Amino acid sequence: MEDTISRQAASASLVVFTVHKVATKRSAPFVLILIAVLFFSLSGIAAAEAGGKAGFIVEPLYPSHNDIRAHRLNIVFIGSEYENFSTFKKIACDIIALNQENRLGLLQLRPFSEPSVKRCFNFWICRTIGKSGKPYREYRNNGEWEITSLLFNDAVQDLNRHYGTSLVRGGRKVMGVLLVNANPQNIPGYGYGGGSFGRDLTFTVWDAKNPWFSHDDMVVTHVHELVHSIPELYDETSGSGTVYDNPGWKSFDYRDQFFVPGSNSDRGGISKEKFLRLGEREKEEYVKKNVPWKAYIGKGDGTLKVGIYEGGLGKSRYIYRSTKNSLMNYPYGLKPGSTLGFGVWVENVIRTRILREFGS
Ligand SMILES: [Zn+2]
Repeated sequence: MEDTISRQAASASLVVFTVHKVATKRSAPFVLILIAVLFFSLSGIAAAEAGGKAGFIVEPLYPSHNDIRAHRLNIVFIGSEYENFSTFKKIACDIIALNQENRLGLLQLRPFSEPSVKRCFNFWICRTIGKSGKPYREYRNNGEWEITSLLFNDAVQDLNRHYGTSLVRGGRKVMGVLLVNANPQNIPGYGYGGGSFGRDLTFTVWDAKNPWFSHDDMVVTHVHELVHSIPELYDETSGSGTVYDNPGWKSFDYRDQFFVPGSNSDRGGISKEKFLRLGEREKEEYVKKNVPWKAYIGKGDGTLKVGIYEGGLGKSRYIYRSTKNSLMNYPYGLKPGSTLGFGVWVENVIRTRILREFGS
């Protein structure tokens, strides 16, 4: 079974969703596929504990920001295992930080801090808290998904009933943000720090007694997941092997976040074979001449200064990113010594993607 899943993972290692697991014993690709299969196969299962059927269960996260008639992305916070609503809401506000609740929150970072980008989002929070009613040791991987997937469905229906909208899960205009108040290390077979399932959902699993993950690390991790989900950017982390190892490397949509010599998005026109035959110095020159961010090289400060850095999408060779250490390069909280943000080039990429879809 594990062998089968690992092979599937290998063929899908350029992925549209990512999961960040802290302190794992298994390989990351294994976990990633496992969660996706569980999550998607469980949508629609009935569970009596979750979901308020009567009354209005969703409210705006901020009193006067939302405009549901505008063409915006509706971000809906769904909480699970919290003792009370106010603790859950405080964490949601720290992650979004419209009113500077937390300096690491999403709307404190460019380009999300810009008024034209802020206006692309509505923020909602579900008042009903999901509860499994089980001690952690009895959890299985799918426990939280069963509860919160249903609660998310209820929340979307609730918005539609209340405002006469026709938002749909899986569409482009609604996205869930799941906060699970649990210490993943206490849940057997669990241990996820956070993850993103494309546009549908992001999640973090975190509680205040978590010994290896501070509150601010959780905020940073969740902002990282939101950037996977909203403008659909990728991890800039290196790993092992080369990007050419993946069968889909040539036609993959790198979204201007990366440069891969010889790929369809390389305007320089070299072939992979020819690139590999170049000396190290010539390779560097070719990359410098053809990266989409060449006009930005040298701009920015600290670890966000734009340049040419090899590694990304979990591969260490022949894929180039624009900053040494951006927020897409630290999925487990802020790396010590890192400048917070994305770098001016990736800011452009994010802004363009969001405004193209939701800009008015
Ligand atoms: Zn990531």
